Amino acid sequence: MKESGRLKKLLVMGCLSERYSGELKKEIPEVDGFFGVMDYDSVLKEIGFNLKHDLLGERLLTTPKHFAYLKISEGCSNPCSFCAIPLMRGIHKSKTIEEISKEANSLVASGVKEIILVGQDTTYYGIDIYGKRKLAQLLQQLCRIYGLEWIRLMYAFPSLFPEDVLEVIASESKICKYIDIPTQHISDDVLKSMRRGISKRKTFELIETIKKKIPNITLRTSIIVGYPNETEDAFRELINYIREIEFDRLGVFTYSSENGTPAYDLGDPIPSNVKEERRNLIMELQREISLLKNEKLENRIFKTLVDEKINSHFVGRTEKDAPEVDNEVIIQGTDEIEVGEFYNVKINDSSEYDLYGEIVK
Ligand code: SF4
Repeated sequence: MKESGRLKKLLVMGCLSERYSGELKKEIPEVDGFFGVMDYDSVLKEIGFNLKHDLLGERLLTTPKHFAYLKISEGCSNPCSFCAIPLMRGIHKSKTIEEISKEANSLVASGVKEIILVGQDTTYYGIDIYGKRKLAQLLQQLCRIYGLEWIRLMYAFPSLFPEDVLEVIASESKICKYIDIPTQHISDDVLKSMRRGISKRKTFELIETIKKKIPNITLRTSIIVGYPNETEDAFRELINYIREIEFDRLGVFTYSSENGTPAYDLGDPIPSNVKEERRNLIMELQREISLLKNEKLENRIFKTLVDEKINSHFVGRTEKDAPEVDNEVIIQGTDEIEVGEFYNVKINDSSEYDLYGEIVK
């Protein structure tokens, strides 16, 4: 595109660019500039503009206009042994409650109805700027925004989980009864080597507390298989944990050894076919769990946000599902639906990862 004159400059921005800009410059000379995650100022200068600080927080949404991700912090101060994010994004830096509220208000004014709170570790929110965890207060503040209907919490690190957050989730109707809590593993040996700051017992206790305080909660987790010290026994423990807890949603990843992380020195002794096999076993188990859970939703009515129209049907989500990673509700039999609006949908049928329903008054 540059050669044909259709593109003036190609600029790259993000984690990889921040960490490996030297190497990338040599490898991809066609790129005119590599920038780090927060280099807004330099990117703008490169194309002849200056950063207008009063416009920070204004966004051009790349999601459909009715939902948006809202980053409440950048970076991470946790020491997880396998993770390169702190090397690329630095220590945890929270935005202030005022900054986040301003951004949320402006998103809602532009038509956003669901805000999905993200950050590398959302439960750490506030420690760096307020001296204590303030996620509960932030959630309460966001609940006051008129026109905002759903607030969803992602990436809630399990160690030292602030329990006041559970009370706010339970009591505020705008907050989806949904928590994404990446537990990564359950074997004490693996958790210790991963430096997750939590044990098997504490993990079980936390999940029990969450289920007790918010009985209708949808729990999502993510898991890593094939970590260097994951023995056959440790993997069996992991399988039993998933069978016992029955997470509603679960993502599983095979371990990847990242240069510069503490776990890099442990090598990568588990062959990739074993990692794949372990991942497949977990996915198979989760498929069974998910199917049983979805069947229990049949004949019930759920408030559903319609995300898009595909051919002759509409696709939506209940509060139990985050966009892109979770289940969808396929709505058939009507054209009188608007994308971006909420409807009551009666679930008539289900499969492992989808629900099928119709609008009811
Ligand atoms: S895995 Fe998550 S919590 Fe742990 S260091 Fe990486 S970003 Fe932080």
